[in-house]
Amino acid sequence: MNQNSLISIVVPVHNEEQNIPLIYKELAKVLTETRYDYEIIFVDDGSTDHSTEEMERLAAQDKRVKFLEFSRNFGKEIAISAGIKNAQGDAVIMIDADLQHPPRKILEFLKKWEEGAEVVIGVRNKSKSDGITKRVGSFFFYKIMAAIADTKITPQATDFRLIDRKVADEFNRFTEKNRITRGLIDWLGFRREYIHFDANERKHGKPQYNTIKLTKLAFCSFVSMSFLPLKLAGYLGIVIILISGPLGAFIFTQRFIINDPWGLQFSGPATLAVIILFLIGIVLMCLGMIALYIANIQTEVNDRPMYVVRKK
Ligand code: UDP
Ligand code: MG
Repeated sequence: MNQNSLISIVVPVHNEEQNIPLIYKELAKVLTETRYDYEIIFVDDGSTDHSTEEMERLAAQDKRVKFLEFSRNFGKEIAISAGIKNAQGDAVIMIDADLQHPPRKILEFLKKWEEGAEVVIGVRNKSKSDGITKRVGSFFFYKIMAAIADTKITPQATDFRLIDRKVADEFNRFTEKNRITRGLIDWLGFRREYIHFDANERKHGKPQYNTIKLTKLAFCSFVSMSFLPLKLAGYLGIVIILISGPLGAFIFTQRFIINDPWGLQFSGPATLAVIILFLIGIVLMCLGMIALYIANIQTEVNDRPMYVVRKK
C-alpha cells in the first residue's frame, strides 16, 4: 500500500450506453482524490446497444480505461470474474455500471484496505423502493442460505466490493463455471470489513435481473454453496423409513403373530400402503446415498483449493 499502488476498478456492463460516461466521470473524480494510480476495466457482457462504442471512445481518450468485449452475454458473474482476471491492481474494486453503487464510497473502501482489510464488502441498506416480491424473495433467500450454506453470507451483501491482490490471485484459481462471485469471495475468507451504503436509483436503462433471473441466481447459489438440496431426498427417505418401518412391524405382529387381541382389524389396503411407503423410503434413501457420491464428484470437479494461505 505505498504511494504507487495501483487500484483496478472492474465494471460489468450489459446495455448501459447512457451510464458508461456517467460512471466513468464519477469514478475518475473520486479516484483522483486518492493518492493512487488507477485503471478502469469495463467488461462488455454482450451488449446490443452502443456500450462498446462508448468504451472504445473512453479508452481512446484516457489510457487508464481498458475494456474487454464478450462475444455474447455470459452473465454478470462471469463478467466480473473476467475483469478480476485482467486486473493488475494491488486492490480490485467491482462496481455496477448503473450508478446504484455510489462511487464516493470507494474512498471508505480504500481506507479500510489501508487499515489492513483484505476484503471490503458493500452492504446495502434496506430500501423501501424495492418491490414486495424482491423483498420477500431476498428475505427467504438469506434465511435459507444461512441455514444450508457452508459459508456464512451476510444479508444484503452486494457485489460492490474491494479485494486485495492476495484475494484476487486466489480468486483467479477457481475453475468452476457455475459460479456466484460473492459466494466464492466469501468462501475464501480473509480479513473482512463491511461498508453500509444506500443504493441509488438506477440512472438509465432497465434492471436486467427480473424475478425469473433472480430466482435462477438464488437456486444457482444454493447448489453451488450447499449440498443440502442434493441430500434432501435421502433425509426424506430416512424419515419415511423411521415412520413406516415400526408401523409395518406393528401391523404385521398384531395381525399374524398375536392375532389381533385388540380388534384393530387393519384392512388389506392399509397394510399394503404401509409396505409401499416403506419401499418408497428405501428408494429415497438409496437416492440419498447416490447423492453422497455425486457430492464428492462435485467437490472434486469444482477443484477448489484445499486451503488458502494468507502468508508464508
Ligand atoms: N450486467 C452484466 N451482465 C448481465 C446483466 C447485468 O454485466 O447479464 C451488469 C449490468 O450492466 C450492471 C450490473 O451487472 O452493471 C448489475 O445489473 P443490474 O443493475 O441489472 O442488476 P441489479 O442492480 O438489479 O442487481
Ligand atoms: Mg442495478
